Amino acid sequence: MNMWYSKNNPDFEMKNSKTIIHSFTFRGHQGLTINPYQGCQHRCGYCYATYEWSPEFYDKIYAKSNAAEILENQLVSWKSKTMEPVMISSATDPYQPAEMRYGLTRKCVEVLQKYAVPYYVFTKSASISRDLELHKRYKDNCFVVWSITTCNEKIRRLIEPGTPSTYSLFATISKFVDAGVQCGINIDPILPLITDSEEEIDLIIHSCNRSGVKYVFGALLRLRADIWERMRIILKLLGLNNGIEDYKKKIYEFTEPLKPRHNIVANENYSRKLLQNLEEKVLEKGMFFDFPDFIENKRITASKKDHTASYMNQQQPTLMNYM
Ligand code: SF4
Repeated sequence: MNMWYSKNNPDFEMKNSKTIIHSFTFRGHQGLTINPYQGCQHRCGYCYATYEWSPEFYDKIYAKSNAAEILENQLVSWKSKTMEPVMISSATDPYQPAEMRYGLTRKCVEVLQKYAVPYYVFTKSASISRDLELHKRYKDNCFVVWSITTCNEKIRRLIEPGTPSTYSLFATISKFVDAGVQCGINIDPILPLITDSEEEIDLIIHSCNRSGVKYVFGALLRLRADIWERMRIILKLLGLNNGIEDYKKKIYEFTEPLKPRHNIVANENYSRKLLQNLEEKVLEKGMFFDFPDFIENKRITASKKDHTASYMNQQQPTLMNYM
């Protein structure tokens, strides 16, 4: 099992990639993504990107040293005249500590901007502040989303020991909001029995509102065999021994062993109640429980001759479609 909790620093290795823009499908929706790194030092116990083909996911970080060059080549030779917004990143955090060493995300963002490609950044990082000016100059065509799970530092240090404090994340978000960058907060994943209490949700919504962000959304933890192994340990470490049975019998309703790669969602009753409550609280504060419309009508023309944006297509899927 990929063990998320370790005080050791990861190993780093450079590697070359043949392609960097990949399409991905989730819940029947297709999108484009780039991942300048493989592996992630943020060490979230619930991480969905820890598949069996990456057994050293938390402990060995590959930096795709030619990411920006390959990205530019792929954009120049893009066959279609239109292009979906690009998600940075789907399987790693683009602003994890490795970025401060290699700067690959920054280089890729510069290329995307050069070719007028809209992009979304997904991160749990405060060090994205280094690129505030970069995103600010492209603020009408990008969207930065922070995934935040809890305002409880004790829980955060246990479930995602490589992430910065939630306090520093909110301070970073405020800087981006003040700079006019479109920002969102994804409360994801909400962990049943751990971060789903009324007080916890109230606190996080209050902090979102105080940061000035307009868009807030959230999702519940999905379980998979390897994620469940880590979650059982987390529940035990938090002294929630009954939680293991509650996950199995009441919330996710499964019997062991779980099939590999099979995702289980929380039961409908629990999940509907929780998400409705979250939505109400977000709306009460005058924020949107959604993604911004601005990205909806955008696609780009990416050709060798003309790299100007053309925002015509009405069928643009929102980011929510990929979650
Ligand atoms: S930041 Fe994202 S990719 Fe990195 S460990 Fe956490 S959930 Fe996984």
